[in-house]
Amino acid sequence: MSYDIAVLGAGPAGLAAATRAAQLGAHVVLLDEQEHPGGQIYRNVDVASGMQQRVLGADYTAGRQLTDAFRQSGAVYYPGCTIWDVTRDGQVTFSEAGKAQQIKASHLILATGATERPMPLPGWTLPGVMTAGAAQILMKSGGLVAQDAVLIGSGPLLYLLAAQMISAGSKPAALIETQARADLWSARANIPGALRGWPYLAKGAAMLARIKLAGVSRFTAAHDVALIGEDHVTAVRFSCDGKPQEIAAETVLLHHGVVPNTQMSRALRLDHDYDQTQRCFVPKVNAMGVSSHPSISIAGDGAGIGGAKVAALSGEIAAFGAAQTLGLISDAEALAAPLQKKRAKELAVRPFLDRAYPPFEQCLRPANETIICRCEEVTAGDIRRFAELGCKGPNQAKAFGRAGMGPCQGRFCGLTVTEILAQETGQTQIETGALRIRSPLKPVTLGELAAYSPDREN
Ligand SMILES: Cc1cc2nc3c(=O)[nH]c(=O)nc-3n(C[C@H](O)[C@H](O)[C@H](O)COP(=O)(O)OP(=O)(O)OC[C@H]3O[C@@H](n4cnc5c(N)ncnc54)[C@H](O)[C@@H]3O)c2cc1C
Repeated sequence: MSYDIAVLGAGPAGLAAATRAAQLGAHVVLLDEQEHPGGQIYRNVDVASGMQQRVLGADYTAGRQLTDAFRQSGAVYYPGCTIWDVTRDGQVTFSEAGKAQQIKASHLILATGATERPMPLPGWTLPGVMTAGAAQILMKSGGLVAQDAVLIGSGPLLYLLAAQMISAGSKPAALIETQARADLWSARANIPGALRGWPYLAKGAAMLARIKLAGVSRFTAAHDVALIGEDHVTAVRFSCDGKPQEIAAETVLLHHGVVPNTQMSRALRLDHDYDQTQRCFVPKVNAMGVSSHPSISIAGDGAGIGGAKVAALSGEIAAFGAAQTLGLISDAEALAAPLQKKRAKELAVRPFLDRAYPPFEQCLRPANETIICRCEEVTAGDIRRFAELGCKGPNQAKAFGRAGMGPCQGRFCGLTVTEILAQETGQTQIETGALRIRSPLKPVTLGELAAYSPDREN
């Protein structure tokens, strides 16, 4: 089946892009591996129970506006489709209900969002330890709330999860924050700009007040964090204000920010930059969201972290750009201009947040014995040893010791491997490079391949 535009990912960016593109007269398909539209922030919003809506709050239920508009747009929707191959000429291969299938489109809009930054700490692979995002996915998809969890890391999403757990009647046992006091101090220069995005600051202050009122033990500027346990996590050890601390814990939730999910943009060999503040790779896009390939646009957090409102605005802007490429409209820049202005306003708070909540230094320079590649059990010490032997980049490190060769294709270790090699070799992160991503982007079974049909039927 052929389309004008295939939008990959049904979060706020993908929903807004597909809706606007269909309204402009394009034949559009939207694919996502989830069974319901919404992406990370609005996961399952159409089917959430009254209790889930109450616990997750108005910022969550706001997603309904996007899903409603999408359903009325006339765009074709393929839920439950895990995309595992994309080519520069617009061929998209995916698995749906145990069967590999393909569609083709003249223009691709990648809207695959963000992933949580890996947080390699001693003991982070122990059962009982997971990411804060994973805990939130359980809340949104299964109504399950972690009990007596210890939250470790930094950033707005960690506060949000703590506030949502409090609303669900299961307040965290402790919140251990890793940003240093100097980070907040250095971010003061960005406060005037951030005031343009004051609703975000107000929300942050309200969440902190909620956490305080609920009596959650809060530790700030924590360092030397380790998760203790033999076959399950039992405690968290860390230092704070010059004192060693230990807290018993059976569930630990880690988070120190989100980074663009670049698996598809990398597989497509698009150009990327490196963001020194966020310490991550970001695909290069122009003001209309077009990447280094003219028939591929990128919208939402996958093109740089901005949050849900920015994602929706950039999705709409990308739709205008794609429609112009296809000859459906000729005034894309003029139509996008008011949206770009709104997007700039929504982004005003980001420099402050990025400086106030930087990635945790201990995780950027993990101790030698800390596991970096979870799939292949490669440690930070192994990566340093490879560097000593002359290894200069993550693709060589893969050949030296299998880091990034497992089923996650480097999603959990790629950034850390680049970071450690850059430190050891003295190269920049761009010179060090990123893992070369190849199909299949997600694990695919032989049965799915055997059931392959070249064209989806509808
Ligand atoms: C775990 C997690 C939880 C978050 N929770 C919140 C929150 O509660 N509040 C908040 O303000 N921000 C949250 N964020 C930040 C959030 O990413 C953005 O604010 C917003 O959702 C970005 O929208 P997006 O459309 O760019 O991407 P997303 O909303 O992430 O949507 C991307 C979509 O692409 C799909 N996708 C990705 N790869 C594939 C593939 N190979 N095949 C098929 N489909 C694919 C995903 O299933 C997803 O639906 C969260 C981020 C993460 C990583």
